[in-house]
Amino acid sequence: MTDTIDHPKETHAFQAEVSRLLHLMVHSVYSNRDIFLRELISNAADACEKLRYLALETPTLLGDDGDLAITLAADGDAATLTVADNGIGMSRDELIENLGTIAKSGTKAFLEAVGESGGKSSNLIGQFGVGFYSAFMVANRVVVTSRRAGSDQAWTWISNGIDGYEVHPATEAEAPARGTVIRLELNDESKSYAEKATVERIVETYSAHVPVPVRFVAVGEEVENLSDGSALWARPKSEITPEAYKEFYGNVSGQWDEPALTIHYRAEGRHEYSVLLFVPSMKPFDLFDPARKGHLKLYVRRVFIADDVDLLPHWLRFARGVIDSEDLPLNLSREMLQHNPVLEAIRKNVTSRLLSELAKTAESDPEKFAGLWEAFGAVMKEGIYEDAERRDELFRIARFKTTTSGEGTRSLKDYVAALKENQTKIYYILADDLARAEASPHIEGFKARGVEVLLLTDPVDAFWVRTALGFDGKPFQSVTQGASDLDAIPVSDEAEKPAEPEAAGIAGLVAKLKEMLADKVSDVRTSSRLASSPVCLVAGEFGPDKQFEKIMARHQGASPFAKPVLEINPHHALIAAVAARIGTDEAMVEDAGHLLLAQARIADGETPDDPADYGRRLARVLEKALGA
Ligand code: ADP
Ligand code: MG
Repeated sequence: MTDTIDHPKETHAFQAEVSRLLHLMVHSVYSNRDIFLRELISNAADACEKLRYLALETPTLLGDDGDLAITLAADGDAATLTVADNGIGMSRDELIENLGTIAKSGTKAFLEAVGESGGKSSNLIGQFGVGFYSAFMVANRVVVTSRRAGSDQAWTWISNGIDGYEVHPATEAEAPARGTVIRLELNDESKSYAEKATVERIVETYSAHVPVPVRFVAVGEEVENLSDGSALWARPKSEITPEAYKEFYGNVSGQWDEPALTIHYRAEGRHEYSVLLFVPSMKPFDLFDPARKGHLKLYVRRVFIADDVDLLPHWLRFARGVIDSEDLPLNLSREMLQHNPVLEAIRKNVTSRLLSELAKTAESDPEKFAGLWEAFGAVMKEGIYEDAERRDELFRIARFKTTTSGEGTRSLKDYVAALKENQTKIYYILADDLARAEASPHIEGFKARGVEVLLLTDPVDAFWVRTALGFDGKPFQSVTQGASDLDAIPVSDEAEKPAEPEAAGIAGLVAKLKEMLADKVSDVRTSSRLASSPVCLVAGEFGPDKQFEKIMARHQGASPFAKPVLEINPHHALIAAVAARIGTDEAMVEDAGHLLLAQARIADGETPDDPADYGRRLARVLEKALGA
């Protein structure tokens, strides 16, 4: 595309989200503006690595300039800092696509978080990798000139970060032979970024271990090396400081938190490879993206190959870092990356290693592990559901809120160790949140007996409890499903022991309700599940849990498939009173029966199935009670 006549200067508006982001960035009083340089260096390094990879197949792309590097050039008088790389470069369309729109889910998540924080964005910027746009924190104007490798036309993209941007063909004089030059016209508060000492300090802090050399040059001075581009993971552990690990983590993850775990080792034997993995301490923003993509970077003998290969199972996608293989061929095709026995072996091994490190942390530092489980437990539980081979390992590290855990959490091992006399199952309740789980009438009888119940509130919970057979020989049992077998377990507190119900009257009420509600419930029975509530609804013995049904209904729009069972509390005064009206006040029994069913539905967070009918009956009963 040599013809510049077809492409006169064009101006474009930013995508709406970009404008908002830029506005926030520029107007935030964020103290650490330094981060812009890490972002630009990281992009430049990526560009060099992409070129290195493409050149494996098409060596001509490198031409006679195979010495990939990042050059920072400062001009104090002009107040400019330039970040240049001789990497892959961008075509005109790529400039527009990559710099004019927000493609990154992390950036969108950032804006959402800012929205939630009510505009208190100052710390947020530091927590998110906001990429290229961070340049506008320090620059009034950013001029990007780029030549895609192999192209004979270079393009210039210019923006003040407010109005939008313009794109026009670059003149040969200003264009790099290959790659990208980003010139920052520094704003008044940011002139120090044109000073060598400042640049040196930032590179030392944030970018000393990017795998591409970084150089610095000031006007009229010699070029100086700031970092040699040697791969951190290839160096012995003993030589690497915690700061260096942290800095590398920042570069490889785009996050600004501390890594919670750093796992660095070299595997030898059948396959040789180096692993440098991090478990973040903060949730990455794309954690629940439907694609469930991992983010490990694959290198082969220190050459970057790809960052979208599944090097770990989906349920460990929060891990960040690098795996560098000694054995793989460099010219791997996409298909070969998908089904490669070497990669399979590496994946299996690294998975085991990461799980064992997590298990070790759970033992040695429960508090730290609690934080990790809080952040990533919901993701790891996907593994319990879909990875039968790893289920036992995951059960060992899984932690749960329970009716007895208080502020802390419990492991399944703790749970089983505290089983009550005659208790043979691991009980759980599924709910949308903890408050609902704890308030549910279904767990009253369990509490009265001191029987611990797992409070499961992640959507994934409804799935794994169905496929997992049990733990330590004890099956998982929903407290809202099937007949509760609590009668064999003694009530722990004598004082709470309920009065004996009046058997005949209750049997009559059960029969009556069954007949009256036949089209709404599949059965009516008494229950030891309840203590202070008169009624609850449960799923049949073999039907799906009600919370599971609800989740499925939400996703598929299907209405709950099975009619529930209504359980009544024979010890409850209200139940006894209704039973006593049979034969004497049938109209009241009829109203009470329907109202009790509605109450059970409301306790499950649902609405009465016939609100108008409910209203009429409630009014009638109240009128009677108040003598109206
Ligand atoms: P991210 O790096 O997370 O993708 P950025 O906002 O930092 O997000 O960059 C957006 C995109 O712009 C990059 O994905 C890349 O395609 C492109 N880009 C940015 N800088 C360069 C560069 N120096 N060379 C080539 N492409 C670049
Ligand atoms: Mg980036």
